[in-house]
Amino acid sequence: MVIIMLGAPGTGKGTVASILTEKLGVPQVSTGDIFRANIKEGTELGKLAESYMSQGKLVPDDVTIDLVRNRLKEDDVKNGIILDGFPRTVLQAQELDKMLEEQGRKVDLVINLTTPREEIFERLVNRRVCSNSNCKTVYNIVLNPPKVEGICDKCGGELIQRKDDRKETLEARLEDYEKTTSPLVDYYEEKGNLRTEIVSKSANRMGKDVAEDIIKLFN
Ligand code: AMP
Repeated sequence: MVIIMLGAPGTGKGTVASILTEKLGVPQVSTGDIFRANIKEGTELGKLAESYMSQGKLVPDDVTIDLVRNRLKEDDVKNGIILDGFPRTVLQAQELDKMLEEQGRKVDLVINLTTPREEIFERLVNRRVCSNSNCKTVYNIVLNPPKVEGICDKCGGELIQRKDDRKETLEARLEDYEKTTSPLVDYYEEKGNLRTEIVSKSANRMGKDVAEDIIKLFN
């Protein structure tokens, strides 16, 4: 089972994907998380990714495609994968189709999450994430604040604001989405496996509802 989470930054891809992972037992693979882990470890890939991410730009296709190609060969994703944040360009989508075909697989479901732009902006500026890489719980300091400011309710880890969630980079990310990633909606619609869910402001509850709806598709 190959599921793709599509949607602009801040539409809830990661939240819905992690609920689906738990319910379906299929691993979530987030290219953004892999880049962030590499930045933290100071690898060459991390240095390269950071130079783009810090400006709100996409990491080049060749680097990102290679990363996913290698990840898809690992054992834990043999029976299924939820791709969160990949593909983000038509070239990435075409290459993914080829990689899957080589493995005798195909994309089974594309979930397109949409949210009004004003809400996205507000959500991302107020987003804080747990810095513990085993936790990564997401908070919103207005809609869903932690019990103690700056501390994760679940694991006590420090909450941080992602650099690319700052106002300065947000516009660039959202523009990139419109220009480069949104054409994927047509790409997948033509293939007939796109399902669109509207996720609105009350992020967490809605995220759960959306995930429940999606799970029903597999029953
Ligand atoms: P995310 O965590 O999905 O919001 O991704 C954070 C950032 O990582 C993006 O703004 C991009 O700079 C980079 N990134 C993540 N996934 C991709 C991708 N599929 N293609 C290019 N850049 C990506």
